Amino acid sequence: MKADLLVLNARIHTFDDQCTIVDSLAALNGRILAVGPTEKLSPLAAPNTDVFDLGGRTVLPGFIDAHEHLSWFAEEPLKLNVSPAHVRSLLDLTQLVSKEAARLRPGEWVQGVLYDDTKMAEGRSLKREDLDQAAPHHPVIIVHVSGHWAVVNSAALKAGRLNDQSPDPKGGTLGRAPVTGRLDGRLIEMAMFNFAFESLAVGPTVVPPFARDVRRKALKRAAGILNAAGVCGVGDALTAPSYVTTYHDLFASGELSLRVNMIIPYIFLQNLEQLGLPGPWGNEWVRCAGIKVIIDGAIAGRTAALKNGYANDASNHGVLLIEDQNELNEIIGRIHRAGYQACVHANGDTAIEMALKAIEHAQKGCPRENTRHRIEHCTMIDDQLLAWMARMGVMALPFGSYLWQHGEKLRPFYGQRADRMFAHGSFLRAGVRVAGSSDHPAGLYPPLLGVQSMVTRRTAAGEIIGVEEKIPLIEAFRMYTVYAAYASGEEKIKGRLVSGQLADMVVLERDPWDCPSEEISTIGVHQTIVGGRTVHGPRHHGAHFHAEDGA
Ligand SMILES: [Zn+2]
Repeated sequence: MKADLLVLNARIHTFDDQCTIVDSLAALNGRILAVGPTEKLSPLAAPNTDVFDLGGRTVLPGFIDAHEHLSWFAEEPLKLNVSPAHVRSLLDLTQLVSKEAARLRPGEWVQGVLYDDTKMAEGRSLKREDLDQAAPHHPVIIVHVSGHWAVVNSAALKAGRLNDQSPDPKGGTLGRAPVTGRLDGRLIEMAMFNFAFESLAVGPTVVPPFARDVRRKALKRAAGILNAAGVCGVGDALTAPSYVTTYHDLFASGELSLRVNMIIPYIFLQNLEQLGLPGPWGNEWVRCAGIKVIIDGAIAGRTAALKNGYANDASNHGVLLIEDQNELNEIIGRIHRAGYQACVHANGDTAIEMALKAIEHAQKGCPRENTRHRIEHCTMIDDQLLAWMARMGVMALPFGSYLWQHGEKLRPFYGQRADRMFAHGSFLRAGVRVAGSSDHPAGLYPPLLGVQSMVTRRTAAGEIIGVEEKIPLIEAFRMYTVYAAYASGEEKIKGRLVSGQLADMVVLERDPWDCPSEEISTIGVHQTIVGGRTVHGPRHHGAHFHAEDGA
């Protein structure tokens, strides 16, 4: 048998159980045929075999980011960036909106993101009237940098059939003028999600999804950016219906350059149940194994639900989006019975405990083997929660690069507890399964940065936080390969460079084992190969890299 891909003269870390290092790898139809010495594998070359002589470069299994928001990232360039880096005042902002409106047809939506009300030169907040003046003939929505509220204009309110008599939706607020009660254009929490966020809305949104072809191009571009950092697969942690379509479109046209585990919002579980579609489903490129549920808020937003409150305000216990344990039991129970993994967003210890209670309840009512229910982020833990997770086989998906990115902001709000946030070391010691994730674009996506952060516990400013949570380099890389594959139930086909697994790999300019740990994030990604095809680096094929059309 001949190979269609040969990687020769490399230092290939296979990540098998013995941590074997070999110098060559052969693949056929997107799968690894063999690994071993160059003399043994080079005879597998045929005239049309892609041969890469890597001259001693290091090869690792392709990186998998188990919790990323690729579909949100894809849409970023389609929206106006009104962050303080781009606009210093409301005047700047409204001028940008006017310019964008002039570019669009009347009635088309102007969408802005990353607005920061605290940084505007005028010292006041954006109003509905500002946007009416800037774009009288276009509906406009400007989303706050927190992602939890937005300001819209009158045309947008009209499109959403919202007026001064409209009641606040469940879980949200319509901003109103104090005396008159007139809508001021602010849409807060569920009022905004229902309006504009397909993956969080109850029912169809007012702001329509971007056109199918626009989404396809945007997603392809975004995947290419991740490929350049060595990413071969992601879990899209909140995949809306429009992106279920878009991932399939890219797969069908042979343009999908990474593998996707779609994590579907809970509100769509009923559609899967009605269809009689148990989890997991899909193929090696596009699949769905998990259903997303959000219990509490965010670490950066100080809305994570904490038992002992915040260090600067002990009376603040954060925010619970689901407060009733019985309601959560019902939700998790449904996911569990339908055969899916529950992917439960829980940052604070209050929320994590609720998640574990609900998972235990579901398991008692309907015992299932190997469920791999996951706690997304799982930031604020203690020994009791760790033991409980280990006993039930519940996974943790802590932030990989958060400590590097935001470490020094943690002490004022979390005090000494900061030492044990993103507790990769504790999870490993307790026998809890754990995987690497970025939560990008909320966090930074390069897996090498995540690895560096987990190994050093060092912030960008140079502060070390929580030495106890440092983990060995091999474990940090397993987070983004072997363990991330386990997190979507795909460890038999992904995460290692051994015969039979998918030919997904990353070629580095420097071996991380020969590099000071503070420099890991600076290692260049020479080449990324997904399914045997180069998606980044030399002889990049550009498109068509599925097994079906690759043979
Ligand atoms: Zn997320």
